[in-house]
Amino acid sequence: MKMAGFYDESISNGLGWRAVLFVSGCPHGCPGCHNKEAQDFNYGEEFNKQEIIDKIVDNPILRGVTISGGEPLCKENIPEVVDFIKDVKKAKPNFNVWCYSGYTLEELQARNDSVTNEALKEIDVLVDGEFQIGKKDPTLKFRGSSNQRILDVPKCLKTGSAVELAV
Ligand code: SF4
Repeated sequence: MKMAGFYDESISNGLGWRAVLFVSGCPHGCPGCHNKEAQDFNYGEEFNKQEIIDKIVDNPILRGVTISGGEPLCKENIPEVVDFIKDVKKAKPNFNVWCYSGYTLEELQARNDSVTNEALKEIDVLVDGEFQIGKKDPTLKFRGSSNQRILDVPKCLKTGSAVELAV
C-alpha cells in the first residue's frame, strides 16, 4: 500500500488531537474530490507501518488516529489498514480510530467478508459515503457533504441501526 500523506497532529480530521494517515488509491471517482491525486494507487510513498506507529507512540498530545485517503476500505487497501489499526491499538490501547470511507456502513456490511467485518470491529468512528458535490456544505464539521454520516460504529453494530455521533 502507498500513502498519500501523513499529519503528525491535526484537530480537523476528527475529535481531539489526532495523527492522520492518508492512504493512496480510491475507486469512487467523486466529482469535486478534495484529494484527486490520492485516487491513484501508485501515488505517494510506500507505507511503512512501523515508522508511522513510532511517530504516533512518541507524541503525547495525541488521543487517536484517523485514516483517510484515498479509500482505506477498498479491497486493495483494507488488509493493511486493518493490520495497522490493530497494531496502533496494541501500542496505544486508549486511542480511538476514525476512518473515512466512500462506502456507506450498509455497503460495507453487505460485503459480509471477514476482513471488512474485522475492520468494522476495530473502527470507532466511520465517516461514511462518497463526497457528493451537490450536497457540499462547508459549515459541516469533519465531512464535506451532508449525505456523509459520522457514525459511532460500536453502537451501530450493537443496535443494528445507524447511530450518528454528536460532534
Ligand atoms: S471517496 Fe474521497 S478520495 Fe475517493 S474520489 Fe471520493 S472524495 Fe475523492
